[in-house]
Amino acid sequence: MAKLYFRYGAMGSSKTANAIMVQYNYRERGQNALMLKPRLDSRDGARTVGSRSGLHAPCRYVEELDDIDLTACDCVIVDEAQFLTKAQVQRLADIVDDMNIPVICYGLRADFQGNLFEGSHWLMAWADSIEEIKTVCWCGKKAIMNARVAGGKVVKSGEQIVLGGNESYVALCRRHWSRGELAPLEIRRISSGKAVYMPLLLQADPSRAMIEGYLDDGELYALTVNGQTAAVAVVAEREGGDWELKNLAVAPEMRGKGYGARLLNHLFRVLSARCDRLFVGTSAGNVAFYERFGFVRDGVIEGFFETHYPELIIENGKALKDLIVLVKKL
Ligand SMILES: [Zn+2]
Repeated sequence: MAKLYFRYGAMGSSKTANAIMVQYNYRERGQNALMLKPRLDSRDGARTVGSRSGLHAPCRYVEELDDIDLTACDCVIVDEAQFLTKAQVQRLADIVDDMNIPVICYGLRADFQGNLFEGSHWLMAWADSIEEIKTVCWCGKKAIMNARVAGGKVVKSGEQIVLGGNESYVALCRRHWSRGELAPLEIRRISSGKAVYMPLLLQADPSRAMIEGYLDDGELYALTVNGQTAAVAVVAEREGGDWELKNLAVAPEMRGKGYGARLLNHLFRVLSARCDRLFVGTSAGNVAFYERFGFVRDGVIEGFFETHYPELIIENGKALKDLIVLVKKL
């Protein structure tokens, strides 16, 4: 007998990645699994589901169920199921009971204030099988709450759903959610939503076009202090297997506190497992900074800044001309 499943977890518990894997596994067995989401959620563009880990898959909207022929369907998967209405959960339960098709729903249990979402409420009440997908708070305890963070602070008031705002969400244990305490210092790799970091990246590299050229394929790391982004870095692989530090920027109000150094040392550790050398191209004014971390001069690309940047970049009263290439053995 088919079942209605509710698999819930806090933000960042890989729910969407899980949903995409389940669909993939059905396909591998030559079966069809239909991916759905409620229409309300449009963060990943029309008709796709996307995870923080960067996995994406096409989907249809739950609202379109009447137009979809389910006869050749072996399983229905619903992402962002917290946004379902009671009637939509009933409809999914009917698919299980009347058509004997399993329906697997993935979603958050509670909103940023700790209240059940409508979809989660009815899935909790009616699902045959309820499973938790676990993730951890920065303190190491299980995270069960979803904190809304704006301007580096946990906010507890506002609308349940904000679309297209500047808010972000962080999974916390109940104690740290109650107290509104975010990680004192945390470094994370950012795989989706990289564009949010553009203003900070522009501090280290004034060319938006250059940044866009390496941001998608590069790995972006962000260091946050009490929820506020203090430093970001982008590294990318070069031809031949070496890596290059493409961007390292520290927020103006966070400078002089060693956050750039913390992030660099983290990158050295991460990259040392994959490569032997890390390159960086920089201006004369920054050479001493990198030499402190063991970088040595490898060469100079004359006229680089004049060629690649439409406007002169002035550093310490002088226009930048040459790019100095440094390398560090990892
Ligand atoms: Zn905690």
